[in-house]
Amino acid sequence: MKFPFYIITFIITVILISINPIPTSAHFYPNISSIPLSLIPNRTLWDAFNNFTGCHKGVKADGLHKLKKYFQYFGYLNNSYNDFSDLFDGNFESAVKTYQLNFNLNATGQIDANTLKNIVLPRCGNPDAVNGTSTMHSNRPYSANSTINTVAHYSFFPNTPPWPRGRRDLTYAFLPRNQLSDLVRGVFSRAFERWSEVTPLTFTETSSFSSADIRIGFYSGDHNDGEPFDGVLGTLAHAFAPPVGRFHLDEQENWIIDGDFTNASPLSAVDLESVAVHEIGHLLGLGHSSVEDAIMYPTISSGTRKVELSSDDVLGVQELYGSNPNYNGTGPVLTPRGERDSSGAHFMGFWLYGPEMLLVTGLFSLLVLLIF
Ligand SMILES: [Zn+2]
Ligand SMILES: [Zn+2]
Repeated sequence: MKFPFYIITFIITVILISINPIPTSAHFYPNISSIPLSLIPNRTLWDAFNNFTGCHKGVKADGLHKLKKYFQYFGYLNNSYNDFSDLFDGNFESAVKTYQLNFNLNATGQIDANTLKNIVLPRCGNPDAVNGTSTMHSNRPYSANSTINTVAHYSFFPNTPPWPRGRRDLTYAFLPRNQLSDLVRGVFSRAFERWSEVTPLTFTETSSFSSADIRIGFYSGDHNDGEPFDGVLGTLAHAFAPPVGRFHLDEQENWIIDGDFTNASPLSAVDLESVAVHEIGHLLGLGHSSVEDAIMYPTISSGTRKVELSSDDVLGVQELYGSNPNYNGTGPVLTPRGERDSSGAHFMGFWLYGPEMLLVTGLFSLLVLLIF
């Protein structure tokens, strides 16, 4: 049985490509100085928005429709809004005002420098508003230094109940094909601990991805949930409310494991634990908060570590689940709304898993049959 050389070459090439899925790999680094310079972009997707400084109602600016899309993505423009021209109209002005209130900025309705500074920051992909109406509580007096009768700003996912009363011991699992190291898994374990310290909830890792309450995965670009990731910075991660339990992170970020940014400039590195603590808040039913110190604040600057729950976060989650009997927290009194790897850069390749492994095994068997 003889086969042309080119057929054999083709089959071998297919097998080699399948065995080395280079384009999909998550980037984890023990510390900021281990990121290869070639992976640090000069500009990110949202930096182009800086061209719109000073834009206000009535003006037309090239590319403004992209900023309108940004505002719609995060919920500030109604879902039915479809004027994606470059004209700054009245609807966009009120969306900008709502955004400014949520982020404690002057509600001018104009794209001023302070507003832009905030817009281009990396952030959580979950929206701050639903269909044009803010779900954040921005207009309540709050002072981090005050000790009496300040009002919390935490929010909940609209119309979504928390994990039911009988579900206090939750399990979590990692997408098997991510093949995360113990160091990376340890980061998530610490992040879960921060929430279990203040509530009666417990979180235990399980190997069964399909049956876990919380399913954690690193994905790139479009990953079939209508919320594609956008590469370095921009949106970093998103998570779904109870009882969905899906927690997705952008695998193209430069994720830092040790959280130590003291001896290097921020660059484009993102602290994995900070983002994990925030997203777990969503998994428990919390929405975004207008309190800048809160874990549930929507943005985080690159090169920043923020892992401690604020009083605002604690009050919010305790309104849903009650307190851990051992928790004895201190901080400003708020009124409830009541009403490492040390050996340098560590690349985590994504290896063959499940159906891909079957495909390669099948092709290899076919090749053996053809040759022999
Ligand atoms: Zn968020
Ligand atoms: Zn997703």
